[in-house]
Amino acid sequence: MKWNFSRNQYKGYNIYSMKKYVDKKRIIFTVICILIIIISLAMITFYSLDTIIKLKRSQEFVAQLTQNQNQIQEQIRKAEEEKIEKFNKSKENIENIYSSETKKAYLTFDDGPSKNTKTILDTLNNYNIKATFFVLGSRVDAMPEMLKEIKNQGSYIANHGYSHVYQEIYSSKEAVLAEYNKTETAIQNALGDANFSTHLFRFPGGSKGGTYAELKNEAKALLTENQILTVDWNALTGDSETTNPTPELLMQNLKRTIKGKNSIVVLMHDAGNKKATADTLPQVIEYLKNEGYEFKTFYDEIQM
Ligand SMILES: [Zn+2]
Repeated sequence: MKWNFSRNQYKGYNIYSMKKYVDKKRIIFTVICILIIIISLAMITFYSLDTIIKLKRSQEFVAQLTQNQNQIQEQIRKAEEEKIEKFNKSKENIENIYSSETKKAYLTFDDGPSKNTKTILDTLNNYNIKATFFVLGSRVDAMPEMLKEIKNQGSYIANHGYSHVYQEIYSSKEAVLAEYNKTETAIQNALGDANFSTHLFRFPGGSKGGTYAELKNEAKALLTENQILTVDWNALTGDSETTNPTPELLMQNLKRTIKGKNSIVVLMHDAGNKKATADTLPQVIEYLKNEGYEFKTFYDEIQM
């Protein structure tokens, strides 16, 4: 092998141009490295920022969701409070129903609807008066159309249980509530209104005394817990005391039981065998009107 040690020359290669070539390569390599670093940094920055933005957005979303949830809970709480307030006010009105400065008459009809209900509604319309009907769930299922007529006439629909069989309804306090609920469902179905509620129950045979006195007290407490009001009566025509009462007897009973009372809740019946009640109603209304009574319904007392 022959070496030529001539300056800057090696085997015909120019060292300067080689050096230049190596430097160029190094520069390109360095530039590429820097570019890679810059791009990497840019990407890291971009993804970091993107992640931060997404994280912030999700935090905002969660905060908004929590706020919405709190608002809904607050609305539910307020609605519940209002409901309790309305119930307490209505309960107070019912409890004070017999103490009135002015003369007020609440005509009430139990055990319907039946064919006699129609006659009663016609009479009420003739006098432009509204009443209250304590319907039986079993009768509602039998005559759902009549329920609509009561509602359309503007009278109050109240609840008298389903069966009216004392051994059944008074078998337990839960049975009373169950009959109330079953009747509410029957009424809702008849009216085609799932939100309809009577809020008002009348114990078959009255809420006080008798064989089931203790159970009725317990049932009343259970109904109150469930925001259901109850009412009896303080006047009557005695239309369920005899089979075929004469109008004279009915009027006599009415006059006797309203004596000295400003506010009267009059018990009558619109069951199928109570034609006498339907026939005597014009006389009842005329008499009470002449005595200065103003006709009311439980819409005036229950605002729920
Ligand atoms: Zn009854």
